[in-house]
Amino acid sequence: MSRFLDGRFSHLEAYAPGEQPRDKKYVKLNTNESPYPPSPKVIAAINSAEVADLRLYPDPTAVSLRTAIAGRYGLTPEQVSVGSGSDDLLNFCFMAFCGSGTGAAFPDISYGFYKVYGELYGLDCREIPLREDFTVAPEDCYGLGRTIFIANPNAPTGLALTREQLRGVIEHNRGSVVVVDEAYVDFGAESCAPLVDEYDNLIVTQTFSKSRSLAGARVGFALGSKELIADLELMKFSTNPYSVNRLSLLAGEAAMRDGGYFEKCRAAVIAERERTRSELLARGFEVLPSSANFVFARRDGTPGRELFLALRERGVLVRRWDSPRIADWLRITIGSPEDMDALIAALDDILKGA
Ligand code: PMP
Repeated sequence: MSRFLDGRFSHLEAYAPGEQPRDKKYVKLNTNESPYPPSPKVIAAINSAEVADLRLYPDPTAVSLRTAIAGRYGLTPEQVSVGSGSDDLLNFCFMAFCGSGTGAAFPDISYGFYKVYGELYGLDCREIPLREDFTVAPEDCYGLGRTIFIANPNAPTGLALTREQLRGVIEHNRGSVVVVDEAYVDFGAESCAPLVDEYDNLIVTQTFSKSRSLAGARVGFALGSKELIADLELMKFSTNPYSVNRLSLLAGEAAMRDGGYFEKCRAAVIAERERTRSELLARGFEVLPSSANFVFARRDGTPGRELFLALRERGVLVRRWDSPRIADWLRITIGSPEDMDALIAALDDILKGA
């Protein structure tokens, strides 16, 4: 830290992204990426003429991509905002809707970035404790008088609320914005996108990083009333109007328009998740029922840290946190069938010595 850093940030704990190793080849099950490449239509859209056009700025209004997204969800382009990953849109939600004493609320075990944004903007944040079984109880989120962030499915648990449960949260917070972060929704949860026309206090965020295999392109979007979306656009045009580059705009549009490929990939991930879950159960793991592209699992009597390190030694990277309630749990991304075979083989090797 230099002596020039604003004192407000001297204790800021930045978000710690999952490891992106360069030293050796791992089976990488730690950052919830897709094991499948982007749609062939994405690859066709990024041609050399488009690369040559990188001398030009991208369309700051991202109208083609917003139109493609709006078409898919039965909304108008004015109800869609796009950003550099859904992190960008979540950042704008914290920027736009949580200051001046409003504050934020989110589950105590959830996406780590919520806390970071809260600290970055010096917000009053309230954590909603997950219940004993790791679920978010909708009624714990009623009438909080704060901007609420709920990841659905939640991360890292993979557990999802139903659309009707979330409708309850939105109904009981009509005076506040409710942001439903649907980064993983395509792997088995119900989206709140159909509620956007009904509630002027709902924002849904989604990403191209998981179910559309574009984590490296950084594209995400928010859906909401045209007034809420105008607020997010105000944040975007007041920070970086060109936040989504030309190639990513094209990639996102091609991916959104290729529904067939999307269906195929997400079905493959869901099938592999269920197979992985039963293989883990058969080896004495407790595995939460997941609606995401990862599973959250622990094995009684095997400390999470040991398991994490033993897997790493055998070339398999998973994700783990030190916080007390989840210290023994591993979040394991669903990869290809071969990736998951490698995970199971590594576990068998570890457990035979246990
Ligand atoms: N929300 C949740 C719950 C996530 O886990 C992530 C990424 N890991 C994001 C949002 C952000 O994803 P991206 O910026 O790649 O869209």
